[in-house]
Amino acid sequence: MDLRDSDVEAVFRAELRGWLERTLPELPDAPARDDWPARVAYDTDWQRRLFEAGYAGVSWPKEYGGRDASPGEQLVFLEETTRARAPYVGVNFVGTLHAGPTLIAEGTEAQKDAHLPKILRGDEVWCQCFSEPDAGSDLAGLTTRAVRDGDDYVVTGRKIWCSFGHIGRFGELLVRTDPEAPKHKGITWLILPMDLPGIEVRPIETLLGSSEFCEVFLDEVRVPVEQRVGAENDGWRVTNVTFSFERGTAFVSEMVDGLRLAEELAPSVSDPAERRELAHVIAELDALWALTKRNVTQAAASGAPGPGAMMLKLGYSEARDRLGELSMRVLDRGAFDVGDYAVEERLRTLSLPIAAGTSQIQRNIIGERLLGLPKERPWPRTER
Ligand SMILES: Cc1cc2nc3c(=O)[nH]c(=O)nc-3n(C[C@H](O)[C@H](O)[C@H](O)COP(=O)(O)OP(=O)(O)OC[C@H]3O[C@@H](n4cnc5c(N)ncnc54)[C@H](O)[C@@H]3O)c2cc1C
Repeated sequence: MDLRDSDVEAVFRAELRGWLERTLPELPDAPARDDWPARVAYDTDWQRRLFEAGYAGVSWPKEYGGRDASPGEQLVFLEETTRARAPYVGVNFVGTLHAGPTLIAEGTEAQKDAHLPKILRGDEVWCQCFSEPDAGSDLAGLTTRAVRDGDDYVVTGRKIWCSFGHIGRFGELLVRTDPEAPKHKGITWLILPMDLPGIEVRPIETLLGSSEFCEVFLDEVRVPVEQRVGAENDGWRVTNVTFSFERGTAFVSEMVDGLRLAEELAPSVSDPAERRELAHVIAELDALWALTKRNVTQAAASGAPGPGAMMLKLGYSEARDRLGELSMRVLDRGAFDVGDYAVEERLRTLSLPIAAGTSQIQRNIIGERLLGLPKERPWPRTER
Protein backbone atom coordinates (compact mmCIF):
# COMPACT_ATOMS: atom_id res chain seq x y z
CA MET A 1 0.00 0.00 0.00
CA ASP A 2 1.02 3.61 -0.60
CA LEU A 3 1.41 5.28 2.79
CA ARG A 4 1.46 8.85 1.42
CA ASP A 5 -1.81 10.80 1.50
CA SER A 6 -3.81 10.98 -1.72
CA ASP A 7 -5.48 14.34 -2.44
CA VAL A 8 -8.74 13.07 -0.94
CA GLU A 9 -6.96 11.81 2.19
CA ALA A 10 -5.09 15.10 2.61
CA VAL A 11 -8.40 17.00 2.59
CA PHE A 12 -9.93 14.51 5.04
CA ARG A 13 -6.88 14.86 7.32
CA ALA A 14 -7.03 18.65 7.32
CA GLU A 15 -10.77 18.73 8.05
CA LEU A 16 -10.49 16.16 10.84
CA ARG A 17 -7.51 17.93 12.39
CA GLY A 18 -9.44 21.20 12.39
CA TRP A 19 -12.48 19.55 13.94
CA LEU A 20 -10.37 17.93 16.68
CA GLU A 21 -8.65 21.26 17.43
CA ARG A 22 -12.03 22.92 17.87
CA THR A 23 -13.78 20.08 19.69
CA LEU A 24 -11.29 18.66 22.18
CA PRO A 25 -10.97 21.83 24.31
CA GLU A 26 -14.78 21.79 24.77
CA LEU A 27 -14.76 18.34 26.41
CA PRO A 28 -15.29 18.05 30.16
CA ASP A 29 -12.53 16.49 32.30
CA ALA A 30 -12.27 12.72 31.93
CA PRO A 31 -14.14 10.97 34.78
CA ALA A 32 -12.64 8.73 37.48
CA ARG A 33 -12.12 5.09 36.53
CA ASP A 34 -14.78 3.76 38.92
CA ASP A 35 -17.43 6.46 38.39
CA TRP A 36 -19.55 4.44 35.97
CA PRO A 37 -22.45 6.86 35.40
CA ALA A 38 -19.93 9.58 34.59
CA ARG A 39 -17.91 7.24 32.36
CA VAL A 40 -21.00 6.24 30.38
CA ALA A 41 -22.01 9.89 29.99
CA TYR A 42 -18.50 10.97 28.92
CA ASP A 43 -17.88 8.14 26.45
CA THR A 44 -21.32 8.22 24.85
CA ASP A 45 -21.14 12.03 24.57
CA TRP A 46 -17.84 11.70 22.69
CA GLN A 47 -19.39 9.03 20.46
CA ARG A 48 -22.34 11.33 19.70
CA ARG A 49 -20.02 14.21 18.83
CA LEU A 50 -18.15 11.94 16.41
CA PHE A 51 -21.46 10.82 14.92
CA GLU A 52 -22.82 14.31 14.46
CA ALA A 53 -19.60 15.44 12.80
CA GLY A 54 -19.61 12.42 10.45
CA TYR A 55 -16.60 10.72 12.06
CA ALA A 56 -18.27 7.75 13.81
CA GLY A 57 -17.75 4.32 12.26
CA VAL A 58 -15.55 5.68 9.51
CA SER A 59 -15.29 2.22 7.91
CA TRP A 60 -19.01 1.39 8.27
CA PRO A 61 -21.48 1.63 5.35
CA LYS A 62 -23.17 5.03 4.94
CA GLU A 63 -26.64 3.49 5.12
CA TYR A 64 -26.00 2.59 8.79
CA GLY A 65 -24.62 6.00 9.70
CA GLY A 66 -20.99 5.28 8.85
CA ARG A 67 -18.71 7.05 6.39
CA ASP A 68 -17.77 4.29 3.93
CA ALA A 69 -14.22 5.61 4.21
CA SER A 70 -11.37 4.11 2.22
CA PRO A 71 -8.63 2.20 4.13
CA GLY A 72 -6.41 5.26 3.70
CA GLU A 73 -9.01 7.50 5.36
CA GLN A 74 -9.49 4.97 8.18
CA LEU A 75 -5.77 5.15 8.88
CA VAL A 76 -5.85 8.94 8.76
CA PHE A 77 -8.66 8.81 11.34
CA LEU A 78 -6.61 6.57 13.65
CA GLU A 79 -3.48 8.68 13.23
CA GLU A 80 -5.15 12.04 13.75
CA THR A 81 -7.28 11.05 16.75
CA THR A 82 -4.20 9.48 18.31
CA ARG A 83 -1.97 12.46 17.59
CA ALA A 84 -4.55 14.82 19.11
CA ARG A 85 -4.97 12.53 22.16
CA ALA A 86 -8.70 12.33 21.56
CA PRO A 87 -10.73 10.09 23.89
CA TYR A 88 -10.85 6.43 22.90
CA VAL A 89 -14.06 4.41 22.50
CA GLY A 90 -14.37 3.54 26.23
CA VAL A 91 -17.71 1.90 27.03
CA ASN A 92 -18.54 1.87 23.29
CA PHE A 93 -15.74 -0.66 22.80
CA VAL A 94 -17.81 -3.80 22.21
CA GLY A 95 -20.51 -2.10 20.15
CA THR A 96 -18.36 -0.05 17.81
CA LEU A 97 -15.35 -2.34 17.47
CA HIS A 98 -16.74 -5.85 17.23
CA ALA A 99 -20.51 -6.28 17.81
CA GLY A 100 -21.37 -3.69 15.13
CA PRO A 101 -18.85 -5.08 12.61
CA THR A 102 -20.18 -8.62 13.29
CA LEU A 103 -23.74 -7.45 12.57
CA ILE A 104 -22.58 -5.75 9.37
CA ALA A 105 -20.97 -9.01 8.24
CA GLU A 106 -23.54 -11.53 9.54
CA GLY A 107 -26.71 -9.79 10.76
CA THR A 108 -30.13 -9.60 9.10
CA GLU A 109 -31.31 -6.30 7.65
CA ALA A 110 -33.69 -5.91 10.60
CA GLN A 111 -30.82 -6.43 13.08
CA LYS A 112 -28.61 -3.95 11.26
CA ASP A 113 -31.38 -1.32 11.14
CA ALA A 114 -32.23 -1.84 14.80
CA HIS A 115 -28.71 -1.57 16.20
CA LEU A 116 -26.08 -0.08 13.94
CA PRO A 117 -27.18 3.58 13.92
CA LYS A 118 -27.76 3.48 17.68
CA ILE A 119 -24.33 1.99 18.35
CA LEU A 120 -22.72 4.69 16.24
CA ARG A 121 -24.68 7.50 17.95
CA GLY A 122 -23.66 6.26 21.39
CA ASP A 123 -27.27 5.34 22.23
CA GLU A 124 -26.54 1.63 22.76
CA VAL A 125 -23.78 0.26 24.96
CA TRP A 126 -22.94 -3.40 24.31
CA CYS A 127 -21.16 -6.08 26.31
CA GLN A 128 -19.78 -9.52 25.52
CA CYS A 129 -21.14 -12.66 27.23
CA PHE A 130 -18.87 -15.37 25.81
CA SER A 131 -16.68 -16.77 28.63
CA GLU A 132 -17.94 -19.13 31.30
CA PRO A 133 -16.31 -20.33 34.52
CA ASP A 134 -15.25 -23.56 32.72
CA ALA A 135 -15.01 -22.21 29.20
CA GLY A 136 -12.43 -19.46 28.67
CA SER A 137 -9.56 -20.66 26.50
CA ASP A 138 -11.68 -23.67 25.66
CA LEU A 139 -14.56 -21.40 24.70
CA ALA A 140 -16.17 -23.99 22.42
CA GLY A 141 -16.73 -26.09 25.56
CA LEU A 142 -19.39 -23.63 26.78
CA THR A 143 -22.45 -25.14 28.45
CA THR A 144 -25.03 -22.31 28.65
CA ARG A 145 -28.05 -24.05 27.11
CA ALA A 146 -30.64 -22.62 24.74
CA VAL A 147 -33.71 -24.73 24.08
CA ARG A 148 -36.06 -23.71 21.28
CA ASP A 149 -39.64 -23.11 22.46
CA GLY A 150 -41.86 -21.61 19.74
CA ASP A 151 -40.40 -18.27 18.68
CA ASP A 152 -37.98 -18.10 21.62
CA TYR A 153 -34.80 -19.71 22.84
CA VAL A 154 -35.00 -20.46 26.56
CA VAL A 155 -31.50 -19.78 27.88
CA THR A 156 -30.06 -21.03 31.17
CA GLY A 157 -26.44 -20.80 32.28
CA ARG A 158 -23.72 -18.61 33.68
CA LYS A 159 -21.26 -16.23 32.03
CA ILE A 160 -18.22 -14.54 33.55
CA TRP A 161 -15.71 -11.73 32.80
CA CYS A 162 -18.41 -9.85 30.93
CA SER A 163 -16.83 -6.40 30.47
CA PHE A 164 -19.42 -3.59 30.79
CA GLY A 165 -22.10 -6.17 31.74
CA HIS A 166 -23.59 -3.80 34.35
CA ILE A 167 -24.07 -0.96 31.86
CA GLY A 168 -24.62 -2.85 28.60
CA ARG A 169 -28.08 -2.70 27.00
CA PHE A 170 -27.28 -5.59 24.66
CA GLY A 171 -24.85 -8.47 24.85
CA GLU A 172 -23.11 -10.74 22.37
CA LEU A 173 -24.23 -14.12 23.72
CA LEU A 174 -22.97 -17.62 22.86
CA VAL A 175 -25.20 -20.58 23.73
CA ARG A 176 -25.24 -24.31 23.13
CA THR A 177 -28.19 -25.26 20.94
CA ASP A 178 -27.15 -28.83 20.09
CA PRO A 179 -25.56 -30.70 23.00
CA GLU A 180 -25.22 -33.88 20.90
CA ALA A 181 -23.14 -32.30 18.12
CA PRO A 182 -19.31 -31.99 18.26
CA LYS A 183 -18.63 -29.00 20.50
CA HIS A 184 -17.79 -26.48 17.75
CA LYS A 185 -20.92 -27.41 15.80
CA GLY A 186 -23.60 -26.96 18.45
CA ILE A 187 -23.14 -23.26 19.27
CA THR A 188 -25.38 -20.31 18.33
CA TRP A 189 -24.64 -16.53 18.47
CA LEU A 190 -27.51 -14.45 19.91
CA ILE A 191 -28.15 -10.78 20.60
CA LEU A 192 -29.09 -10.61 24.29
CA PRO A 193 -31.24 -7.65 25.45
CA MET A 194 -29.78 -7.26 28.96
CA ASP A 195 -33.11 -6.22 30.50
CA LEU A 196 -34.93 -9.50 29.82
CA PRO A 197 -36.51 -11.23 32.85
CA GLY A 198 -34.26 -13.93 34.35
CA ILE A 199 -30.95 -12.07 33.91
CA GLU A 200 -28.93 -11.20 36.99
CA VAL A 201 -25.71 -9.20 36.64
CA ARG A 202 -23.17 -9.22 39.48
CA PRO A 203 -20.13 -6.94 39.19
CA ILE A 204 -16.67 -8.30 40.05
CA GLU A 205 -14.18 -5.89 41.62
CA THR A 206 -10.78 -5.79 39.91
CA LEU A 207 -7.29 -5.26 41.29
CA LEU A 208 -7.73 -1.55 40.54
CA GLY A 209 -10.87 -1.31 42.68
CA SER A 210 -13.12 -0.81 39.68
CA SER A 211 -15.90 -3.11 38.45
CA GLU A 212 -15.07 -3.57 34.79
CA PHE A 213 -16.35 -7.11 34.68
CA CYS A 214 -19.48 -8.95 35.69
CA GLU A 215 -20.86 -12.37 36.18
CA VAL A 216 -24.11 -12.83 34.28
CA PHE A 217 -26.61 -15.44 35.49
CA LEU A 218 -29.29 -16.56 33.04
CA ASP A 219 -32.31 -18.38 34.40
CA GLU A 220 -34.77 -19.49 31.71
CA VAL A 221 -34.33 -16.24 29.82
CA ARG A 222 -36.57 -16.11 26.74
CA VAL A 223 -34.57 -14.68 23.85
CA PRO A 224 -36.62 -14.25 20.64
CA VAL A 225 -35.34 -16.35 17.72
CA GLU A 226 -35.17 -13.17 15.64
CA GLN A 227 -32.18 -12.17 17.83
CA ARG A 228 -30.10 -14.98 16.35
CA VAL A 229 -27.10 -13.89 14.25
CA GLY A 230 -26.26 -16.49 11.58
CA ALA A 231 -27.85 -19.92 11.43
CA GLU A 232 -28.63 -22.12 14.43
CA ASN A 233 -25.52 -24.14 15.35
CA ASP A 234 -23.33 -21.98 13.09
CA GLY A 235 -22.31 -19.72 15.97
CA TRP A 236 -18.67 -20.80 16.12
CA ARG A 237 -18.10 -19.48 12.61
CA VAL A 238 -19.80 -16.18 13.56
CA THR A 239 -17.70 -16.07 16.74
CA ASN A 240 -14.55 -16.20 14.65
CA VAL A 241 -15.81 -13.23 12.66
CA THR A 242 -16.26 -11.38 15.97
CA PHE A 243 -12.75 -12.40 17.09
CA SER A 244 -11.16 -11.27 13.84
CA PHE A 245 -12.40 -7.74 14.62
CA GLU A 246 -11.74 -7.95 18.36
CA ARG A 247 -8.18 -9.17 17.90
CA GLY A 248 -7.54 -7.21 14.71
CA THR A 249 -7.63 -3.47 15.18
CA ALA A 250 -9.78 -3.05 18.29
CA PHE A 251 -6.87 -2.49 20.65
CA VAL A 252 -5.01 0.15 18.67
CA SER A 253 -5.13 2.40 21.72
CA GLU A 254 -2.93 -0.03 23.64
CA MET A 255 -0.08 0.54 21.20
CA VAL A 256 -0.58 4.25 21.22
CA ASP A 257 -0.76 4.47 25.03
CA GLY A 258 2.32 2.24 25.20
CA LEU A 259 4.30 4.56 22.93
CA ARG A 260 3.26 7.54 25.08
CA LEU A 261 4.32 5.82 28.30
CA ALA A 262 7.63 4.82 26.67
CA GLU A 263 8.28 8.42 25.63
CA GLU A 264 7.60 9.65 29.16
CA LEU A 265 9.77 6.94 30.66
CA ALA A 266 12.75 7.42 28.31
CA PRO A 267 14.44 10.44 30.01
CA SER A 268 14.51 8.52 33.33
CA VAL A 269 16.19 5.39 31.97
CA SER A 270 19.97 5.72 32.23
CA ASP A 271 21.12 2.13 32.60
CA PRO A 272 22.39 0.96 29.14
CA ALA A 273 20.74 -2.48 29.41
CA GLU A 274 17.40 -0.92 30.33
CA ARG A 275 17.72 1.63 27.52
CA ARG A 276 18.15 -1.29 25.11
CA GLU A 277 15.05 -2.97 26.59
CA LEU A 278 13.07 0.23 26.17
CA ALA A 279 14.28 0.69 22.60
CA HIS A 280 13.19 -2.87 21.78
CA VAL A 281 9.69 -2.23 23.11
CA ILE A 282 9.39 1.05 21.21
CA ALA A 283 10.55 -0.63 17.98
CA GLU A 284 8.01 -3.42 18.51
CA LEU A 285 5.18 -0.97 19.14
CA ASP A 286 6.19 0.92 15.99
CA ALA A 287 6.18 -2.31 13.99
CA LEU A 288 2.74 -3.19 15.40
CA TRP A 289 1.45 0.21 14.29
CA ALA A 290 2.65 -0.66 10.76
CA LEU A 291 0.92 -4.04 11.06
CA THR A 292 -2.27 -2.23 12.07
CA LYS A 293 -2.12 -0.30 8.81
CA ARG A 294 -1.82 -3.58 6.94
CA ASN A 295 -4.74 -5.10 8.87
CA VAL A 296 -6.97 -2.14 8.08
CA THR A 297 -6.14 -2.46 4.39
CA GLN A 298 -6.85 -6.19 4.40
CA ALA A 299 -10.08 -5.75 6.36
CA ALA A 300 -11.28 -3.23 3.81
CA ALA A 301 -10.42 -5.53 0.92
CA SER A 302 -11.86 -8.77 2.27
CA GLY A 303 -14.40 -7.73 4.95
CA ALA A 304 -12.31 -9.00 7.89
CA PRO A 305 -8.71 -8.54 9.07
CA GLY A 306 -6.30 -11.19 7.79
CA PRO A 307 -3.69 -13.28 9.64
CA GLY A 308 -2.03 -10.11 10.94
CA ALA A 309 -4.86 -9.87 13.47
CA MET A 310 -3.53 -12.94 15.26
CA MET A 311 -0.04 -11.45 15.42
CA LEU A 312 -1.26 -8.06 16.59
CA LYS A 313 -3.04 -9.31 19.71
CA LEU A 314 -0.04 -11.36 20.81
CA GLY A 315 2.42 -8.61 19.93
CA TYR A 316 0.85 -5.63 21.71
CA SER A 317 -0.10 -7.51 24.86
CA GLU A 318 3.39 -8.91 25.33
CA ALA A 319 5.09 -5.60 24.48
CA ARG A 320 2.86 -3.72 26.95
CA ASP A 321 3.56 -6.33 29.58
CA ARG A 322 7.34 -5.90 29.22
CA LEU A 323 7.03 -2.11 29.20
CA GLY A 324 4.97 -2.22 32.41
CA GLU A 325 7.54 -4.40 34.10
CA LEU A 326 10.38 -2.10 33.03
CA SER A 327 8.50 0.99 34.22
CA MET A 328 8.12 -0.57 37.68
CA ARG A 329 11.88 -1.25 37.91
CA VAL A 330 12.61 2.38 37.01
CA LEU A 331 9.91 3.63 39.37
CA ASP A 332 11.33 1.47 42.13
CA ARG A 333 14.56 3.50 42.01
CA GLY A 334 12.56 6.69 42.38
CA ALA A 335 13.79 7.80 38.96
CA PHE A 336 10.42 8.17 37.34
CA ASP A 337 7.88 10.80 38.19
CA VAL A 338 4.53 9.56 36.91
CA GLY A 339 3.92 7.29 39.92
CA ASP A 340 0.19 6.61 40.21
CA TYR A 341 -0.41 6.59 36.49
CA ALA A 342 2.45 4.14 35.83
CA VAL A 343 1.41 1.84 38.67
CA GLU A 344 -2.22 1.79 37.50
CA GLU A 345 -1.10 1.13 33.96
CA ARG A 346 1.12 -1.70 35.19
CA LEU A 347 -1.77 -3.33 37.04
CA ARG A 348 -4.14 -2.86 34.14
CA THR A 349 -1.78 -4.19 31.50
CA LEU A 350 -1.25 -7.39 33.50
CA SER A 351 -4.62 -8.45 32.08
CA LEU A 352 -3.76 -7.85 28.42
CA PRO A 353 -2.09 -11.22 27.76
CA ILE A 354 -5.31 -12.84 29.09
CA ALA A 355 -8.10 -10.67 27.61
CA ALA A 356 -9.56 -11.64 24.19
CA GLY A 357 -7.65 -14.95 24.19
CA THR A 358 -4.48 -15.67 26.18
CA SER A 359 -0.99 -15.45 24.69
CA GLN A 360 -0.65 -19.24 24.88
CA ILE A 361 -3.84 -19.67 22.88
CA GLN A 362 -2.73 -17.03 20.36
CA ARG A 363 0.53 -18.96 19.90
CA ASN A 364 -1.42 -22.18 19.33
CA ILE A 365 -3.60 -20.44 16.73
CA ILE A 366 -0.61 -18.92 14.95
CA GLY A 367 1.26 -22.25 15.02
CA GLU A 368 -1.62 -24.31 13.74
CA ARG A 369 -3.55 -21.99 11.43
CA LEU A 370 -0.83 -19.70 10.08
CA LEU A 371 2.29 -21.84 10.13
CA GLY A 372 0.59 -25.21 9.58
CA LEU A 373 2.39 -26.82 12.53
CA PRO A 374 1.03 -30.08 13.99
CA LYS A 375 -2.00 -29.69 16.28
CA GLU A 376 -1.31 -29.31 20.02
CA ARG A 377 -1.45 -32.37 22.23
CA PRO A 378 -4.64 -32.57 24.33
CA TRP A 379 -4.54 -30.10 27.22
CA PRO A 380 -4.97 -32.00 30.52
CA ARG A 381 -7.93 -29.89 31.69
CA THR A 382 -10.12 -30.36 28.62
CA GLU A 383 -10.78 -32.83 25.87
CA ARG A 384 -9.43 -30.45 23.13
C1 LIG B 1 -9.42 -7.56 30.78
C2 LIG B 1 -10.29 -8.72 30.39
C3 LIG B 1 -11.50 -8.50 29.75
C4 LIG B 1 -12.31 -9.58 29.39
N1 LIG B 1 -13.52 -9.30 28.84
C5 LIG B 1 -14.35 -10.33 28.53
C6 LIG B 1 -15.65 -10.06 28.02
O1 LIG B 1 -16.06 -8.91 27.87
N2 LIG B 1 -16.45 -11.10 27.73
C7 LIG B 1 -16.05 -12.40 27.88
O2 LIG B 1 -16.81 -13.29 27.54
N3 LIG B 1 -14.81 -12.69 28.39
C8 LIG B 1 -13.96 -11.69 28.72
N4 LIG B 1 -12.72 -11.96 29.27
C9 LIG B 1 -12.36 -13.35 29.53
C10 LIG B 1 -11.21 -13.87 28.66
O3 LIG B 1 -11.65 -14.10 27.34
C11 LIG B 1 -10.70 -15.17 29.34
O4 LIG B 1 -10.17 -14.81 30.60
C12 LIG B 1 -9.62 -15.83 28.52
O5 LIG B 1 -10.15 -16.35 27.32
C13 LIG B 1 -8.95 -16.98 29.31
O6 LIG B 1 -9.89 -17.86 29.84
P1 LIG B 1 -9.86 -18.25 31.40
O7 LIG B 1 -9.76 -16.99 32.19
O8 LIG B 1 -10.98 -19.17 31.66
O9 LIG B 1 -8.46 -19.02 31.60
P2 LIG B 1 -8.17 -20.55 31.31
O10 LIG B 1 -8.74 -20.92 29.99
O11 LIG B 1 -8.60 -21.33 32.50
O12 LIG B 1 -6.61 -20.56 31.19
C14 LIG B 1 -5.72 -20.61 32.32
C15 LIG B 1 -4.30 -20.71 31.80
O13 LIG B 1 -4.14 -21.93 31.04
C16 LIG B 1 -3.62 -21.67 29.75
N5 LIG B 1 -4.21 -22.59 28.76
C17 LIG B 1 -5.52 -22.96 28.67
N6 LIG B 1 -5.69 -23.79 27.61
C18 LIG B 1 -4.47 -23.94 27.03
C19 LIG B 1 -3.99 -24.67 25.90
N7 LIG B 1 -4.81 -25.40 25.15
N8 LIG B 1 -2.66 -24.58 25.58
C20 LIG B 1 -1.82 -23.81 26.33
N9 LIG B 1 -2.21 -23.11 27.42
C21 LIG B 1 -3.52 -23.17 27.76
C22 LIG B 1 -4.07 -20.23 29.46
O14 LIG B 1 -3.24 -19.63 28.46
C23 LIG B 1 -3.94 -19.58 30.83
O15 LIG B 1 -2.60 -19.20 31.05
C24 LIG B 1 -11.90 -10.91 29.65
C25 LIG B 1 -10.68 -11.14 30.30
C26 LIG B 1 -9.89 -10.07 30.68
C27 LIG B 1 -8.60 -10.35 31.39
